[in-house]
Amino acid sequence: MSHQSEPRNLDVLNPSTAEVVATVPAAAPADVDAAVVRAATAQRAWAAAAPADRARLLRRFAAVVDEHIEELALLEVREAGHTIGNARWEAGNVRDLLDYCAGGAERLTGRQIPVAGGIDFTLLEPLGVVGVIAPWNFPMPIAAWGTAPALAAGNAVLLKPAETTPLTALRLAELALAAGLPDGLFQVLPGEGAVAGNALVEHPGVAKIVFTGSTRTGKHIMARCADRVKPLTLELGGKSPNVVFADADLAAAAAAAPMSFLDNSGQDCCARTRILVERSVHDRFLDLLAPAVAAVVVGDPSDEKTQMGPLISAVQRDRVRGFVDGPGGDGPPDGVRTILGRAPEGPGFWYPPTVLAGVSPDAPVAVEEVFGPVAVVLPFDDEADAVRLANATEYGLAGSVWTRDVGRALRVAQGLRAGNLSVNSHSSVRYSTPFGGYKQSGLGRELGPDALAAFTETKNVFISTEA
Ligand code: NAD
Repeated sequence: MSHQSEPRNLDVLNPSTAEVVATVPAAAPADVDAAVVRAATAQRAWAAAAPADRARLLRRFAAVVDEHIEELALLEVREAGHTIGNARWEAGNVRDLLDYCAGGAERLTGRQIPVAGGIDFTLLEPLGVVGVIAPWNFPMPIAAWGTAPALAAGNAVLLKPAETTPLTALRLAELALAAGLPDGLFQVLPGEGAVAGNALVEHPGVAKIVFTGSTRTGKHIMARCADRVKPLTLELGGKSPNVVFADADLAAAAAAAPMSFLDNSGQDCCARTRILVERSVHDRFLDLLAPAVAAVVVGDPSDEKTQMGPLISAVQRDRVRGFVDGPGGDGPPDGVRTILGRAPEGPGFWYPPTVLAGVSPDAPVAVEEVFGPVAVVLPFDDEADAVRLANATEYGLAGSVWTRDVGRALRVAQGLRAGNLSVNSHSSVRYSTPFGGYKQSGLGRELGPDALAAFTETKNVFISTEA
């Protein structure tokens, strides 16, 4: 296969200090070729193994991850600037998903379908070698969301982590080997998107791509996959609404709102960055929100009390600042009320929690995915207006509804065109429930009871009883 770009080494920076903490060789297309060959060999044996044996090995992998939760978490603090509390949850999510999917290896059943003249049944067969391309914002969980169900369904996995965050992925591959997973079955290929990622997408030996990242890159990869009619799952961007009705417990809604867009410094595809508030309580809500934003503890992510750490990079921080300050860099326009939290000064990629009220619903900061600790507050008039405004986006990943009226909660949840909704809370992700986006937030679902099926082909077999 011919590729233009030459790979380089990847410098991994600690986002809290801007210091280089590791240098990792980037995979070249030839490395991808070799990995596909090894993975294909390993996959054939893996698919032929007894389902109970696959399940046992995946449970052992989960147990080894469990023994290394603290080590993995500290690595994530170092390479991604995640708070230690979040990083422990993320490593635990990998363990839990491996356990959950392990059970699926023995429950991946087809169907028997009544037909004339014989017996008809379906087989769910593994696809072969699956390529998982992960972003930097949740390196461990998102790597696992593709990897665990793919392995459980009998596939091999080649994982390409993001350029900035390869360290936990590389460690997970070592732990898989330590747990006894066959050599070559789960390989990590750190590298550049346009080189290693592209080689996975274009490789004829890779049967499916699971991509999580920006909508822009996702569209590009979808077009590349179309050339080969290669199936893909896409988990893309978001601009999720947090809809607060006047009848809600306003104090609870205001207390919960900050971390719904500040968690992971806002670098969260599910971040509730559009806070839509019924006009009659708009100002009161802002008065409740301001102290809650100011109280968020921003700082050293390895400190147990810290709620928000730095952004991933200087580039990302400058991008976020551009959304808030506008193209001229002059700051928000007159008439905009700005609520600010605190952030450390000095080295590291810090940006304060920021809420803008009074911006136009069409302003870039209200429409585009900022991927930083920034939210806008927009007023609405009634239930229909709330649903209209919430849906006025090209994205459709997540959303929250705050109301004490159960009927309204159900109506609005049904009216929102988004894949992951929560009422009087901001929960989006559980390994046992489906996750994914409507519209330009994605294609397909991960996690939940059907996670393994996304890594299978359905084969229909008819046996004549009349011969
Ligand atoms: P990105 O699109 O820049 O990169 C994601 C991955 O794709 C990286 O590993 C990158 O190296 C690779 N890549 C880039 N160009 C490629 C190419 N031409 N071919 C193959 N691979 C290529 O995204 P990012 O900045 O790392 O992540 C942030 C984005 O991810 C945000 O938009 C966020 O909303 C989204 N995201 C979505 C979900 C979800 O589940 N919906 C979850 C997390 C993040």
